[in-house]
Amino acid sequence: MNLDEILAGELRRLDEHSLRRRLKEVGGAQGRFLMLEGRRVLNFSGNDYLGLANHPALLQAARESMELYGLGSGASRLLSGTQTPHLALEKELAQWKNTEASLVFSSGYAAATGGIPALAGPGDVLFLDKLCHACLIDGARLSGGRIRIFPHGDLGRLEKLLASEQRRDPEARRWILTESVFSMDGDLADLPGLVELKEKYGAALVIDEAHAVGVFGPDGSGRIREEGLEGRVEVQMGTLSKAAGVAGGYLAGSTVLREYLVNRARSFVFSTAPPAALADATREALRLMGGEEGRQRLTRLRSLIEEARSLLGPWLRPGSGASPVFPVQVRDEAEAMRLCDWLLERGVYIPGIRYPTVPRKQARLRVSLSASHQPGDLVRLRELLEEAM
Ligand SMILES: *Cc1c(COP(=O)(O)O)cnc(C)c1O
Repeated sequence: MNLDEILAGELRRLDEHSLRRRLKEVGGAQGRFLMLEGRRVLNFSGNDYLGLANHPALLQAARESMELYGLGSGASRLLSGTQTPHLALEKELAQWKNTEASLVFSSGYAAATGGIPALAGPGDVLFLDKLCHACLIDGARLSGGRIRIFPHGDLGRLEKLLASEQRRDPEARRWILTESVFSMDGDLADLPGLVELKEKYGAALVIDEAHAVGVFGPDGSGRIREEGLEGRVEVQMGTLSKAAGVAGGYLAGSTVLREYLVNRARSFVFSTAPPAALADATREALRLMGGEEGRQRLTRLRSLIEEARSLLGPWLRPGSGASPVFPVQVRDEAEAMRLCDWLLERGVYIPGIRYPTVPRKQARLRVSLSASHQPGDLVRLRELLEEAM
């Protein structure tokens, strides 16, 4: 078999459909500006919503932690012991989320793809919003359960599916999986509606707060707490890699849930623990979010969101505007990538988002805001978009 020839053929096919991805080299830290392929460009591509990824306090926390705990963690936490910062972080995450317990994974992707198949199995039914992130889809697939997709945000349709699956097999366990803030559209799920449905149909609810954390809820703890629903959501999920500015993922819920996952989530059991320094840096991020500086950053982000809503309004996909994710609708893949290149030539980087991240012919530029942006940045963006469109 000539593997390279086969793979080159596949890449050519991606090229023909404007779906080929390429890595762009960044020679420096993430922030308002990026050194992208040797040029300094205004950056609208990150999920570092509060601008913490480079915060001196987080860097300092990581340095101090490395002095005590070294860098590599040696093995899975079940093998060579669990370093104190991970346990401390899990307690603090649980407090923040107002749950009994939490468990940290090396990424949000690992939390979903390890956690979901540990909890759900063949014979179960998993209901997913059409726009669920790949990690929820992959977790659901790995479970071996029956997957039912409901149209984005359509709780009427979800209820019909729940009812029909209940008739089909009243004994099957049912899971509803969704995000509280959608990653590529920036719109919000109807959390109270979802909780009502899951209670009516005896299902369990898994909610991914990847893009809600840091931006919504008390101390940036997310939309579930903002809505006061933490006692009615079985599994809260999220990442420490976005607004928290570090890396890692978590599942939060009951003490029993945590204990069970320690035993059964394969991405936890069979994967080396993340460096303790990341846990200590994340703890610092949680402290910042709960304090005066966090509040100031959030206020700045909120006013940027408001400004973006009025400046970018005409080009946005419907439903967006409540979160820092602003999808500028283009539709055609080739055109989206041309627009991305055109903006880049003018010193502004906004990534083009295409299938399979979003459905075909729904390509877009995904503008994401950070507290480190300045109001003039959005004015510049608006001028460029006007010229381009
Ligand atoms: C980014 C993202 C994840 C994955 O988190 P990582 O820590 O980056 O692996 C999970 N869910 C959603 C909705 C995301 O956007």
